[in-house]
Amino acid sequence: MTISPTPAAEPPETVAGSGAAARAGALLTVDLGALTANYRALKRILAPGAHCGAVLKADAYGLGMAAVAPALAGAGCRRFFVALPEEGIRLRALVPKAEVHVLDGLLPGAEADYVAHRLVPVLNTLGEIERWSSWARKASQPLNAAIHIDTGMNRLGLNPSDLEHLGQDGARLTGIAVTCVMSHLACADDPDHEMNERQRLRFEEARTALPTASASLANSAGVLLGQDYHYDLVRPGVALYGASPDPTRPIGMHKVVRLQGRILQIRDVDAPETVGYGADHRVEGPTRVATLGIGYADGLARRLGGLMSGWIAGHEVPLIGRVSMDLITVDVTGVPDRLLHPGALVDLMGERTDVDDVARLSGTIGYEVLATLGKRIHRVYIDPANADAP
Ligand SMILES: *Cc1c(COP(=O)(O)O)cnc(C)c1O
Repeated sequence: MTISPTPAAEPPETVAGSGAAARAGALLTVDLGALTANYRALKRILAPGAHCGAVLKADAYGLGMAAVAPALAGAGCRRFFVALPEEGIRLRALVPKAEVHVLDGLLPGAEADYVAHRLVPVLNTLGEIERWSSWARKASQPLNAAIHIDTGMNRLGLNPSDLEHLGQDGARLTGIAVTCVMSHLACADDPDHEMNERQRLRFEEARTALPTASASLANSAGVLLGQDYHYDLVRPGVALYGASPDPTRPIGMHKVVRLQGRILQIRDVDAPETVGYGADHRVEGPTRVATLGIGYADGLARRLGGLMSGWIAGHEVPLIGRVSMDLITVDVTGVPDRLLHPGALVDLMGERTDVDDVARLSGTIGYEVLATLGKRIHRVYIDPANADAP
């Protein structure tokens, strides 16, 4: 078999792009319309009066905070959460009026940055409370903070004895304007898990030791547990980005991301040739192989080799051979010539095979699939809010 790339009669359904897109081995298209539709869908099921925040840690789960934050703000979101103050500083510049919470707490030595950028630390220890209170006294102005109570996760947050100390000595909070009391669910992705109700009850109990403030308990999965879990503010992340907290239980959000790998080369091989490292994949007959410019360095898990398929205009193209650092190989035998040319794009994740499918196949969760999408992947944003812009 030889390759005779016949010129396409009509434009191919996949595009090569130009500029930075043309220079990239893979594209990630983020549908901001689907993102805001997911935000509104979650809002619709909230308990009356509850607000919907959004979690944008790890560069908005890999999708790109710079586009995600303004889109959510445009949809009415006013309360954001990131993990680190560095992320908070970036976010502050994008959403000047919104509340920006830093979940990892008050990092020692970074207090002045929280003040300068109006970041709201989620105070996790008595030590953090003490430091924030002393900064507030120094600044002679009340400083906003959320307080995180641990109700069973045992990672971050005040434990019961800390709460007791705080209850006995309210002066510890001098200068701190407590905007929100929060906790985090460990097992919300399993609606039948007894831990959910146990944490909710511990949360109710712990709140009584603290100043009256709005309450927040639910992540994405917590929102789906029902209105008892919503309180004043919910903090979804993964559901906004179109993935399920548990990839074996899809939750039917709008799909937000589409990942495409670019064809670099096409070759014909025949038995007894092999493809890729370790000579792992042995072809059984005449086979056309396309090599794409994406690999495990871009977040495509190495174990996906031989397990998943890509798609070219409705044609399934199985991954064959091992996933390399920068490359994968797909079997494109039977795909019409006009669709196969260097520069053409192969769908790897999106409509046919979604984030949860990829997560299941790679033995992980959608969170990890999204958050590890590499920096080399060129991000493209579909923004219905700017659809008419030139
Ligand atoms: C990451 C995180 C969330 C969001 O969780 P999802 O499962 O992505 O909705 C909410 N709260 C805290 C404390 C988190 O760390």
